[in-house]
Amino acid sequence: MTGTQQHATARGDLLAHTPKDLFIDGEWVPATGGATFEVRDPASGELLCEVADASPSDGTAALDAAVAAQASWAAHPPRERGEILRRAFEELMRRQDELAVLMTRENGKPLADARGEIAYAAEFFRWFSEEAVRIDGGYQVAPNGASRFLVMRQPVGPCLFVTPWNFPMAMGTRKIGPAIAAGCTMVIKPAHQTPLSMLALAGILKDAGLPPGVLNVVPATDAGGVVEPLIRDPRARKISFTGSTAVGRRLIEQSAQQVLRVSMELGGNAPFVVFDDADLDAAVDGAMTAKMRNMGEACTAANRIYAQRGVAEEFGRRLAERMSALRLGPGVEDSTQVGPLIDARAQEKVRTLVRDAVDRGARVVVGGDVPTDERLRGGHFFTPTVLQDVPWEARMSSEEIFGPVAPISAFDTEEEALSAANNTEYGLVSYVYTRDLARGLRMAEGLETGMVGLNQGLVSNPAAPFGGIKHSGVGREGGHTGIDEFLETKLVNIGF
Ligand code: NAP
Repeated sequence: MTGTQQHATARGDLLAHTPKDLFIDGEWVPATGGATFEVRDPASGELLCEVADASPSDGTAALDAAVAAQASWAAHPPRERGEILRRAFEELMRRQDELAVLMTRENGKPLADARGEIAYAAEFFRWFSEEAVRIDGGYQVAPNGASRFLVMRQPVGPCLFVTPWNFPMAMGTRKIGPAIAAGCTMVIKPAHQTPLSMLALAGILKDAGLPPGVLNVVPATDAGGVVEPLIRDPRARKISFTGSTAVGRRLIEQSAQQVLRVSMELGGNAPFVVFDDADLDAAVDGAMTAKMRNMGEACTAANRIYAQRGVAEEFGRRLAERMSALRLGPGVEDSTQVGPLIDARAQEKVRTLVRDAVDRGARVVVGGDVPTDERLRGGHFFTPTVLQDVPWEARMSSEEIFGPVAPISAFDTEEEALSAANNTEYGLVSYVYTRDLARGLRMAEGLETGMVGLNQGLVSNPAAPFGGIKHSGVGREGGHTGIDEFLETKLVNIGF
């Protein structure tokens, strides 16, 4: 038994008890022909289990179930829809620790991050359990007084969800929660690297009383082959995708044929701007959160740090001190603060981007490469890294690093910082540290992103609208607007 297995077993391993089949129409079913694929531990490469590998016909069976359940689910009392979500929230929190171990094993993130994600994921269910009973409409006198406008909100209909591996549960619950609350049914395809958290979640929703067919889960390795026919199926009414901009763009194109409602949470390239007058301790804390949550594998990760010249060196020194103190290891070990990246490709990408920056003149303050520690040989680790003097033309200034690398560039003026921050096709989130409120608000107004962290390294909250502009996406998840994505507005114009 490996060290990772011992740790996981000591914690009461959920892996053995998590269903590995497709979840269609309320039942666990094998994939066509019994096809399966492997799920591996990124900390060691060890085989964790095999999971049913959906075929296109399995995908269609899942959509059949969602379509069949749509009318009765839409008619389900909102209070009951909310109570199912509430029960699932309670169960997720009751089982937070064991679900965190499962997530860590398939994704690699440290247990503390996994626990945090389970709580974050569960909060979407609590929030939308409360929103389910607040779907409203309107009644209005027409301007000429000759008629009345009755405005009603109705569920969009069967939805398609595709989610990434970096937040295997939360990226699901922030779609599933509002869809359930609004009265929509759904088919979800989780990322092939991390299907287990979603399968465990499906079991929890089933036990919480979700009727058959409302949620269907189809893990698959042939993502395009399974999802595209569903997008082109006239019975599906909406797609919500979280993942890379390249794939999102393709799904938008495919969605055009049936004119699907589209929500896209895509890539990011977040600027993190530190002004001379910032509280430096707070800025370093914020940078640690914005950079190192999930080992940098987050769409919200600070990707470019711009520090004003007067504090750039000191900020970099303090950040490097914190980064070099982080302990790398398999996520299941309690002492681990930085786990492995998801796979060898991700590790190689980070390495290439660091080399490119260094070749163009960046200075390595700490880290800079994969660790040499024997103990970490089997996993896709990368040493927490701080780079100074990163030239603005370095590849990492325009590409998502998706790893534990903090590149710092100095700037002189507010105008320069704003222009550098906005110099990207992405627009998900930005961070600003300053004690000058007027400057903070000027920056917040000028930044071309869907979210801004002002003296704050974490913006995500289930009760607030999350989403991007430009190539970072369309639509918002969470907050009061989160449920709107799953509702149509219908006008009844009443003759009077
Ligand atoms: P990805 O390659 O786009 O994969 C995301 C999902 O799309 C996976 O389930 C994947 O399936 C599936 N997929 C891939 N090709 C597809 C196709 N042709 N048709 C249908 N589905 C397809 O993204 P990733 O690299 O795994 O995830 C990281 C990206 O997600 C980053 O860019 C990150 O910024 C973004 N992200 C954004 C947010 C946000 O809210 N804005 C949140 C988290 C992550 P497989 O499992 O088969 O690959």
